[in-house]
Amino acid sequence: MILSNPKGTQDFLPPYGDQKALVENEFRKVVSLYGFSEIVNPTFEHTELYLRSTGLTTDIVTKQMYTFTDKGNRELALRPEGTPGVVRAVLQNKLKLPVRLFYIGPMFRYERPQKGRYREFFQLGVEVIGESEPETDVEIIEMGMRFFNQINLSDLIVKVNSVGCPICRPKFRVQLRLFLDKNLEQICDDCKIRVEQNPMRVFDCKVEKCKEIYHDAPKISDNLCYDCQNHFQAVLKELNERKIPFELDKMMVRGLDYYTRTAFEFVPTGSSELGSQDSVGGGGRYDNLVEDFGGPKTPAIGFALGLDRILICLGNALTSRKLVYIIALDAQALKQGRQLLDTLRNAEIPALINPPDKNLRAALGIADNLSCEYVIIIGANEMQKKVYTLKNLTQRSQQEIPQDKIVEVLSKK
Ligand code: ATP
Ligand code: MG
Repeated sequence: MILSNPKGTQDFLPPYGDQKALVENEFRKVVSLYGFSEIVNPTFEHTELYLRSTGLTTDIVTKQMYTFTDKGNRELALRPEGTPGVVRAVLQNKLKLPVRLFYIGPMFRYERPQKGRYREFFQLGVEVIGESEPETDVEIIEMGMRFFNQINLSDLIVKVNSVGCPICRPKFRVQLRLFLDKNLEQICDDCKIRVEQNPMRVFDCKVEKCKEIYHDAPKISDNLCYDCQNHFQAVLKELNERKIPFELDKMMVRGLDYYTRTAFEFVPTGSSELGSQDSVGGGGRYDNLVEDFGGPKTPAIGFALGLDRILICLGNALTSRKLVYIIALDAQALKQGRQLLDTLRNAEIPALINPPDKNLRAALGIADNLSCEYVIIIGANEMQKKVYTLKNLTQRSQQEIPQDKIVEVLSKK
């Protein structure tokens, strides 16, 4: 039997499985304030979908896709990102536009695993399909920040850039090509390939030497066409007006082919737990993707947040377990304990009762292992006085509570 999980995958053991669910629920709450509805797509699609959207020269398509041929000879891929599947579903099902959708689920990329970088990882994503205004861009950036605030991850800035459109990019590419040709000797081998296939992708390079050289390269956001320039200025103005902490980063171009105009990344500031995997999410406009898929010309924008990286940043911050552990010391107390168990659950207080043959010490040990906050002890003394002994395990305190007051006392905690 194989007793270890595949490389690059994780088990979310307690309490992280609960923490993951808590973060997902906070996300649901925040995005529903902005009118988003949940969409659940398949975790695999026709490989062609990603070839035609994510892009033939991107890292995702060239190196990271989990592709396979099924028993019916279909070429399929485990989804490396959410957007193509969402757009496919919107078009295929002729959803009315504009539409605001969100998704939560696993993504798969064959990468070199390290802290914050896995082969199966989870994303929280949103897509707004059919809205073109710069205000929408800022609205969803603000929504992302609101979500991060909500989960107490507020040491964060947004890096913003504009990556232009098919009108401004070809002219810019010629300019960039000239610069890169002059520096060809000094850039890394991967970048030499990028120069040939898709020069703008060089800005994605993580090699320090390359990054230094590209500081002096021409930047797309300095070479936008009239409409893109107007859009970008409006976005920056609105970000300022809404006092969203952002930084203009002209080197940021994002790793997907379909992005147009606004591109952004959420990056933790201060001492990040993440080390070099510093972005917890990113997104941008993709005003041509719907048309590329054969749909009508439709502007769109979205983002995806990395749930695994968010959980690393949070550590134990959100774990709160209000489990009550009932310990009954004899047969009569056990009967009373079982009734109390029902009463607590009916009052929506999570509770467990210990197995009858455990002694008090062993039972307290179990409560500790389960990270219970409270223990209720019922013995002959308590039965006689019609009280419960309530122990707070975190504060190491205890008090006697009249039996008929226990729900009230625990509900207030
Ligand atoms: P990176 O530059 O770190 O590789 P990316 O640009 O490939 O990120 P996106 O495709 O924009 O990432 O995905 C959005 C978010 O999903 C990222 O900001 C990150 O938090 C998360 N993410 C991406 N790839 C992984 C991975 N392999 N493991 C864990 N989280 C990931
Ligand atoms: Mg990546």
